[in-house]
Amino acid sequence: MNVILFGAPGAGKGTQANFLIKEYNLTQISTGDMLRESVKRKTELGKKVEIIMTKGDLVSDEIIFSLISNRLNNTDYTNGFIFDGFPRNLKQAKKLDEMMYDMKINLDFVFHIDVDEQILTSRIENRAKQEKITRKDDTSSVLIERLKVYNRETKPVLDHYSNQNKLNVINGMGTIEEVSSNISNIIQKDFKVD
Ligand code: ADP
Repeated sequence: MNVILFGAPGAGKGTQANFLIKEYNLTQISTGDMLRESVKRKTELGKKVEIIMTKGDLVSDEIIFSLISNRLNNTDYTNGFIFDGFPRNLKQAKKLDEMMYDMKINLDFVFHIDVDEQILTSRIENRAKQEKITRKDDTSSVLIERLKVYNRETKPVLDHYSNQNKLNVINGMGTIEEVSSNISNIIQKDFKVD
């Protein structure tokens, strides 16, 4: 089973990604984690993307495509994968369609964890106030910028999957457990996991 998970910053995407990984034994493919790892290791790539990430902007599609195609060539995702943070714009979504078609990989579910803009903004402000900031791009002004980038670049991708009849919109304003069980219900209705 292969899944793509969408959610604006503050929507709880990371929490639900972890749930799906555990529950269905999926392999996570997170472009954000891959990029952060390269920044931490101070690789050439890391040096290139650090400033862009700190600002909350998107790194170039070319960089993302090479990360993704390398990752997909390593076929260790026996139970399927979950894309987290990719595709983030229409060009990336179309490229992913092509790659999956070429590799004969099926896309089973696309979930959008939907949270009202106002709630997102207040969650973002609280998160920045309460938590010790561990990521440079987790301050409230950068999070607001990431929200803008999400609305501008990533929202059109949702229509792309909606047109393919693959999009499931999940109400992200319940408790963590409620959101997880809404996702699970959809999976169990359409997919037999053995
Ligand atoms: P979030 O915390 O919103 O889930 P991520 O961890 O996925 O964010 O990504 C962190 C940063 O890494 C983004 O703000 C962006 O700069 C970069 N990034 C991650 N994935 C992509 C992508 N698919 N395309 C372009 N930039 C990306």
